[in-house]
Amino acid sequence: MKILIAEDDSLLRSLLEEQLTAWGYDVVASRDGGEAWQILQSKDAPKLAILDWMMPEMDGVSICHKVRAELPEPYTYIILLTAQQRDEDLIAGMEAGADDYISKPFKHNELKVRLRAGRRIIELQNELLAAREILRQKASHDALTRAWNHEEILRILHQELARAEREGEYVGVIMADLDHFKQVNDTYGHMAGDAVLHAVAQRMQSLIRPYDYVGRYGGEEFMVVLPECCQECASAFAERIRQSVCGQCVDTSEGQIPITMSLGVAASDRVGGWNAQDLVKAADTSLYQAKKNGRNRVEVAVSTAVLAPND
Ligand code: GH3
Ligand code: MG
Ligand code: MG
Ligand code: MG
Repeated sequence: MKILIAEDDSLLRSLLEEQLTAWGYDVVASRDGGEAWQILQSKDAPKLAILDWMMPEMDGVSICHKVRAELPEPYTYIILLTAQQRDEDLIAGMEAGADDYISKPFKHNELKVRLRAGRRIIELQNELLAAREILRQKASHDALTRAWNHEEILRILHQELARAEREGEYVGVIMADLDHFKQVNDTYGHMAGDAVLHAVAQRMQSLIRPYDYVGRYGGEEFMVVLPECCQECASAFAERIRQSVCGQCVDTSEGQIPITMSLGVAASDRVGGWNAQDLVKAADTSLYQAKKNGRNRVEVAVSTAVLAPND
């Protein structure tokens, strides 16, 4: 585990460094409070810190204040190293946000025990954060396809429309539905159908830009949100998706399954004032049109542009 030592006394600093390294810690050392504060704000900062109370630039108590005010999460466990013996000073240190203190001079074993408590708290925190991340993933993603789930893709669309309105940009929306998917289930079984849905989502994910979003809108229907993408760009994109999805059979345990997809496209314009419901409805109407016009094709809302399949 990474640990920060901030101590201006070079002899004590190197003694601590040596001892903590011997106990298996990955030590980062600083000689003043300013440097320590920089380290605590950095990416992958140590979550366990031993801070000397009296240091140049910024003292340990001030660092505690700043950490608690500005770096609430993930939690940093702080042990203050103090020469102060007065009770009121120690209370001030703890009130500033320190978790523990050790008075100089101290026995190595005492430090070891105090560190063990801090380490336990940081380890518990890491487990909690990992569990929370799993829950967050589960709450926002579809388990079968790993795409955003229905609620989340709609939330994303609202968010992107609000951003586009502020920045005078477009948002493209594609509604995409697998053709005759009931037949896939009926012919190859539900498990093979699941494998197809998974593979289709992967093909779509591999095509999008890092800032685009693929969501499973429901059943065998997907929604793609394309920020900064006008109607023309969104329909070209939809056509690439169509070709990628139908270009190759999906390899499943029940054999090679041919699939096609129909897609409906709509985009907001730069004038703004679009709401998510209208955009989804427009894309949905285009999708319905694509089904009606023979499937395996892209149709675009409120436009004469129609991209027919090339194959
Ligand atoms: P169309 O071309 O008009 O869209 O025809 P379709 O058969 O795809 O549409 P329909 O709405 O009649 O049937 C959709 C099918 O998708 C039926 C349903 O069982 C299947 N489906 C929905 N969700 C899942 C799923 O999670 N796994 C599997 N295997 N099938 C699913
Ligand atoms: Mg000092
Ligand atoms: Mg379908
Ligand atoms: Mg459907």
